[in-house]
Amino acid sequence: MNNQISLCRIQLPQESAITVILKENHFYQYRLNQEMKKFLLLMTSVIGSYCFNPNDYVTIPFLKFPDSLSYNVLEINSIFEYLIACVYIGLFYYSMYFCISHILVWSHPAPKTPDRIAQTREEMRRGIKALFYVILLTTGIIWKVQPLNPYYGYYETHGIWIEGILHFTSRVQQYYYAQRYMLTFDVWFYTSHIIGHTPFFWKHLHGEHHEFVEPGAYAQDAVHPIEALIQGPIGHFLPTFIYPFHPVCHHVFGLLTSIYAQLAHDGRWDPAGHTLHHYYYSCNFSIWGFCDFIFGTGYNQEKYPIPYIPTWLRSKVNKSKNEDKKIM
Ligand SMILES: [Zn+2]
Ligand SMILES: [Zn+2]
Repeated sequence: MNNQISLCRIQLPQESAITVILKENHFYQYRLNQEMKKFLLLMTSVIGSYCFNPNDYVTIPFLKFPDSLSYNVLEINSIFEYLIACVYIGLFYYSMYFCISHILVWSHPAPKTPDRIAQTREEMRRGIKALFYVILLTTGIIWKVQPLNPYYGYYETHGIWIEGILHFTSRVQQYYYAQRYMLTFDVWFYTSHIIGHTPFFWKHLHGEHHEFVEPGAYAQDAVHPIEALIQGPIGHFLPTFIYPFHPVCHHVFGLLTSIYAQLAHDGRWDPAGHTLHHYYYSCNFSIWGFCDFIFGTGYNQEKYPIPYIPTWLRSKVNKSKNEDKKIM
């Protein structure tokens, strides 16, 4: 008995519970590291393959992707494929337009008066019409114009793994590309917008958008179709002719710009003061405010001493003024 105990005592330090746990822990840690490595390798290969050959992973009826997304986001070779691509792009873009705008309109503090509802309907009607042409042109540019781009397939031959993958992962690089996109788009938008304010173009094109003095989110696309094409797809694709962009990254920038424009028309988050442009007409012409800053056309209180207060805020402001008077 004593021997057994002593034997146990001798064995215990070697195989104590802590040792076993530590061993197991080490084993599991090791296994976890191995599995994590495998998982990361798998993810990298899936992302890599997805980015460069999505046909292996995505099946959408009648819709074809190119063998490599470094060239284009869709493969279109015939009128039939063009129409199919228009349907899918249309479904995606209209859904996004309606969902985001509707959430913004629904959650907006402006009272849903009959006039406001009628305005929202009119913005929606014009938006639907303009977007129809925007989708036709966007798909047409993807099909016919992008293959003529000097940077077409740039990331296929300029380091797929280094530039292509880092393009998605490196925040610094994405920031740098976003800046290029924003600056070029801003210059284009600003110039075309200033031209839109000249008497001829105001009468025939841009005036239509300014009928909404206090716009809602749907007003983002409530513009004349020709203006929608100039400031939409043409402005969106123009930067790709000046700098190389990965097509996926480029379209993500386009979507973000579109959401940003909806927010700017909603007015609650409007860093470049677009709602002030709708009210005063002669300031804040650019999308992100870069050109307004450079050319001094941004809103300033000295130029416009009467402050703009949205209608839905006026009653609150008047209330607080009356309360202040009572206190005095
Ligand atoms: Zn304008
Ligand atoms: Zn506007």
